[in-house]
Amino acid sequence: MTGLTVRNVSYAYGEKRALDDVSFHVPQGAFCALLGPNGAGKSTLFSLLTRLFTTRQGEIEIAGIDIAKHPRKALAKIGVVFQQPTLDLDLTVHRNLSYFAALHGLSGRQAEGRITAVLERLDMAERATERARDLNGGHRRRLEIARCLIHVPSVLLLDEPTVGLDAASRHAITKHVHDLSSQDGLTVLWATHLTDEIGPDDQVAILHCGKLLDQGICRDITGGAPMQDTFLSMTRAAS
Ligand code: ADP
Ligand code: MG
Repeated sequence: MTGLTVRNVSYAYGEKRALDDVSFHVPQGAFCALLGPNGAGKSTLFSLLTRLFTTRQGEIEIAGIDIAKHPRKALAKIGVVFQQPTLDLDLTVHRNLSYFAALHGLSGRQAEGRITAVLERLDMAERATERARDLNGGHRRRLEIARCLIHVPSVLLLDEPTVGLDAASRHAITKHVHDLSSQDGLTVLWATHLTDEIGPDDQVAILHCGKLLDQGICRDITGGAPMQDTFLSMTRAAS
């Protein structure tokens, strides 16, 4: 199966169970919000999806590739934006991208082509020579998203990419990433606790205290009610 598949994944920090038998599937080209309050286990799942932690229980497939059996092949398909920003603030936008391209083994010529393409895709072309430090929060986040596209991944993982941004930047980034799934066919897993970032046609996986409470198309889960109401009543009932 292509897209992203998580099957019966559990994870504990010592005695603390952070994920409890979590299973869901994101079809190729879909945008899926991993919706959960603080402490739900979203970042723990991201650590497993990116092999920061190895899976002890359960299976993960990235674009149909089992991450435990073929880790390098699976990881090459992933573009990731972690919760904590990881830009080099002293480097220019272009240098941040060319450094990352080199890490992925792209030649200078390939890298230039990809840098131009990803900056244009994120409406950042005119900022190539600016230092990352001089960008506002929204543009820094956009640069991180551009960077995670350099090696042409098929699955994007973004861990609360809009936290701390103003409403306009949040809206721009949410739209850019929705476009990457609907127009470019990328599979997206977008961790958030903010229900207004989710459209009625998006996939949603609702995580609470390490357990998956529900999964499916947003409009089917809410039955047309606001996602915020559904989310609050589900998480309250499960507490
Ligand atoms: P989220 O990203 O949804 O806020 P996390 O995955 O960061 O959730 O955390 C899930 C649970 O695991 C929380 O209860 C958190 O306190 C706990 N946790 C996270 N990291 C660690 C760690 N390194 N050691 C022990 N417990 C942790
Ligand atoms: Mg987190």
